[in-house]
Amino acid sequence: MNTQYNETTAKKILTEAKGYLDVGFTHSLNPYSGCGFSCLYCYVREMPIQKFKDQPWGEWVDMKTNAAANYKNEIQKLRKKSKPVHIFMSSATDPYQPIEREANITRGLLEAMIEFPPDFLQIQTRGPLIKRDIDLLVELKERCKLLVSMTVETDREDIKRIFAPYAPGIKLRLRVLQELHDAGISTQASISPVLPFTPEFPKVLEGKVDHIWIDTLSIGDGSMGKRSERLGMPQLFRENGLEKWYQKNLHVKVEKYFKKYFPDEMVRVSKDEAFLK
Ligand code: SF4
Repeated sequence: MNTQYNETTAKKILTEAKGYLDVGFTHSLNPYSGCGFSCLYCYVREMPIQKFKDQPWGEWVDMKTNAAANYKNEIQKLRKKSKPVHIFMSSATDPYQPIEREANITRGLLEAMIEFPPDFLQIQTRGPLIKRDIDLLVELKERCKLLVSMTVETDREDIKRIFAPYAPGIKLRLRVLQELHDAGISTQASISPVLPFTPEFPKVLEGKVDHIWIDTLSIGDGSMGKRSERLGMPQLFRENGLEKWYQKNLHVKVEKYFKKYFPDEMVRVSKDEAFLK
């Protein structure tokens, strides 16, 4: 993927949570705009930030160079109002873009959070680069509630290559999940969106995660499946002979399957508000 990187400054870095994030999270935080991983199913492709852009999704990434400074200002203001701060990082990008290795924007944010911790931070990523920041995460978990959620849509590399050819490999993500877990950091495997997997998938996750999150293209795209349809997902499943995996009630079946291997309280399904409270 030929991605163009641009430095930018953002007016604000914390965005008040809306829609599906409006349960449990008070704010989303996107250190970047755009995403070099360019997953074919990504619902952000259907959002205004991409719809009004003249470059294809995946080919542009804006780096918010003032993210840490903004965060420090904004959290101090929120603290003056005694408001709880539960952050989801990130909802419309991945905080561990490959350029993060040099840009250090997410790392700068973690440093700022150690100084001014939120009440809760969930990091949502599929970037193995998060391993670099284990030192900061270990420190941060002593200052606030922290959950690292690694997207593992499937345990099959061949399936990942169809749906997210530019995203990091599954084995690499699993290895990093193990390292995070071994470092005492609370971890989650986000099977989101559920893609076809092998029967061994639950066993692959054993000992690596504290939680499992299940979400599908039908219930997790913010429009009950309409965005996924516009992105051509039903066709892509069909073209690859995978249509039996594209079902409205897939989350029910997957939840049942994973609960055979994990205690009920470990397995959560999108829109399961109980977990977020
Ligand atoms: S990593 Fe996330 S934000 Fe990036 S393309 Fe994939 S789904 Fe979209």
